[in-house]
Amino acid sequence: MNEYCPACDYKFERAPGYFLGSIYFNYGLTALLLLVTFMPLHWTGRYSGDTLLAIGATFSLLFPLWFFRYARSLWVGFDQYFDPIETQDEPDEETWNDEPDESWRESL
Ligand SMILES: [Zn+2]
Repeated sequence: MNEYCPACDYKFERAPGYFLGSIYFNYGLTALLLLVTFMPLHWTGRYSGDTLLAIGATFSLLFPLWFFRYARSLWVGFDQYFDPIETQDEPDEETWNDEPDESWRESL
């Protein structure tokens, strides 16, 4: 994951442990999906409890791994919405330069 946004230079990880909150999104969506899909499947009686358990356990292991980066993205958006960073410092004109620094060549 990028440390800064390549477009606006927003620093994603504001503090150590910042992304801990993304676990809520990841766990919450995993539990919600399990609830709304596997409970009705259980009630239909078409699948045995062992089959549903195996599928549900596999889903609850693999889905959070896949959803990891999206949960972080949701967390950053959630945090920015409720606790926005008003302004970020603009790059200093003297240090910010689109041209690559070639001064090291002069010392050769
Ligand atoms: Zn950005």
